[in-house]
Amino acid sequence: MTPKTIYRDPGSGAIEFAKSFIRGLTEESALLVIKHLVAGTLHDKNDKRIKTCVYCNYFFRDQTRPGNAKACSSECKVGFDTLNRAKRRAEEALLKPKKKGRREEYYLSWFEYPFWLNEYEMIKQSWKQEAPYSPEKLAQIAAAKERQKLIGGKQKPKRCVPYKGDEKDSGKVFIHFPKHNYRKPSNIVVSNMSREEIDNYFCSRYSMEHLRLERQRAMNLATAKRYKGKE
Ligand SMILES: [Zn+2]
Repeated sequence: MTPKTIYRDPGSGAIEFAKSFIRGLTEESALLVIKHLVAGTLHDKNDKRIKTCVYCNYFFRDQTRPGNAKACSSECKVGFDTLNRAKRRAEEALLKPKKKGRREEYYLSWFEYPFWLNEYEMIKQSWKQEAPYSPEKLAQIAAAKERQKLIGGKQKPKRCVPYKGDEKDSGKVFIHFPKHNYRKPSNIVVSNMSREEIDNYFCSRYSMEHLRLERQRAMNLATAKRYKGKE
């Protein structure tokens, strides 16, 4: 019994080959030609360059110089390699199943309320996951994770501010500190900005990336404070 041929979406090489037969034909007659083409009765059997694609299974003309192509196109080759890799992995997994650790065996972590199947294993294992950290440490860990997500393993980029501290042209800067009389309460000036105004102000001043980072920082701080409050 011959195994049934599986046809996939034809790759570009197979399409190119079919096109060379149906150029200038009407749709109906082209369909007929393609039928014969797929059956393999149309092309020269002795032409070594005409092959069946290993992936999409249609005929194609091998255009490579050494003439050793097995797939009609690069996308079919990728598909074929992917398929083979998956097969090999499945076989490997079947022959050599990955050894389960005790935790995988006894801890049902995928439930909404994960639990242990065995109390002894629970006591032996869970302390590793439940080791207490100080809130500062937790905030640090969260920040480090966030940093890792943002910039990966890369080093923090250095910001260069062009300032030497001795520029004479820029003119002197005078800073006037207001004089305070702490015994008298000063006038309180309340200025209100609406939410939209604040948003507009920040958006005009900072980049989206900067704002996102600041938001994240504020959230980390809030988390740390919440932990501190619980102590
Ligand atoms: Zn193909």
